Amino acid sequence: MTIALALVVLTAEHRVETSAASLITAAARLGTPVAVVVSPGPLSDTATVALGDAGATQILHFTTHDAMTQLITPLVAALATAASTTDPIAIVIEHTIDGREIAGRLSVRLGVGLVTDAVDVRDIEGQPVATTSVLGGSYLVDSVTENGPLIVTIRPGAIEPVTPAFSTAAEVSSQPLPPSAVPGAVIESVTATRVTSNRPELRAATRVVSGGRGLQSLEKFVLVEQLADALGAAVGASRAAVDAGYVLQASQVGQTGVTISPQLYVALGISGAIQHRAGMQTASTIVAINTDANAPIFDIADFGIVGDVFTVVPQLIKQLEMR
Ligand code: FAD
Repeated sequence: MTIALALVVLTAEHRVETSAASLITAAARLGTPVAVVVSPGPLSDTATVALGDAGATQILHFTTHDAMTQLITPLVAALATAASTTDPIAIVIEHTIDGREIAGRLSVRLGVGLVTDAVDVRDIEGQPVATTSVLGGSYLVDSVTENGPLIVTIRPGAIEPVTPAFSTAAEVSSQPLPPSAVPGAVIESVTATRVTSNRPELRAATRVVSGGRGLQSLEKFVLVEQLADALGAAVGASRAAVDAGYVLQASQVGQTGVTISPQLYVALGISGAIQHRAGMQTASTIVAINTDANAPIFDIADFGIVGDVFTVVPQLIKQLEMR
């Protein structure tokens, strides 16, 4: 049996991250999908059922207290241990800041190749192939690796989860992660800070409204949030808006922020620099509002309005609220 491992990360409430279904779908395209999960205690029934429903045939569950005190290394150790016992054809990991670090460390530990920020994966005659989008989305590049499993990070939102017609209960195999597998602690304690928001999480959102330097100030950036709320969207931002202190760095979209592929991306007062486009250009529909008709964002926009956000967006919100 050809196995493809998918790293599933649990939330602070021990629930499965929303990205899990997409990763399991990606793994299923390459082999029999097996979920790898790490937690300090038993795996909840909710998590087990969610993974089975998403198509995982098996769950390799590793327990370690280090799951709470070290952020990355237990996950790398769990994947390395799972790889040594299952001999997978591929290992899929979400392309997040943590996911990139996990994939890089795992690649070094296993001595195998790595493809990052893939927008698609498929099996070609038994060979796992990862597709990346390069040069501003102008080209798609298919990559394969030699000698061992393909480690691939998948861009959030790039692969639509496919729920199996008949879901079966995933077989769970739990084992403690040997302490020797996890290098010595470098972090003394981790404190979870809960950010409460009714808005969808940026990386998983199907609609995103982002604001840039054109919003002018922290106070005026609230317009982005108002349109996001009217659309049921997540809030994103350009790096210029983050650097100016209008919004937290976690909202930054682009090369040094998050990479997303929502169904709808609305760019307000964003010029469309290549580094910003790198994080959003695979969105299905892009809408841009900008005073400068020559702004590069209009080159990739499906719908564009040349206008002042402070005039156009309140009208847009009014129209949405009248629906
Ligand atoms: P600007 O380029 O200043 O554009 C502001 C836009 O707002 C203009 O087009 C203007 O016409 C418009 N505008 C002004 N007033 C209004 C108004 N009232 N109504 C409507 N429109 C208005 N950037 C990112 O976004 N993400 C990244 O991850 C990122 N990583 C980077 C990594 C590196 C190594 C480097 C060198 C740069 C990176 N950048 C990144 C920065 C990037 O190059 C741009 O500087 C940045 O994206 C610009 O942000 P902006 O579009 O908000 O600002």
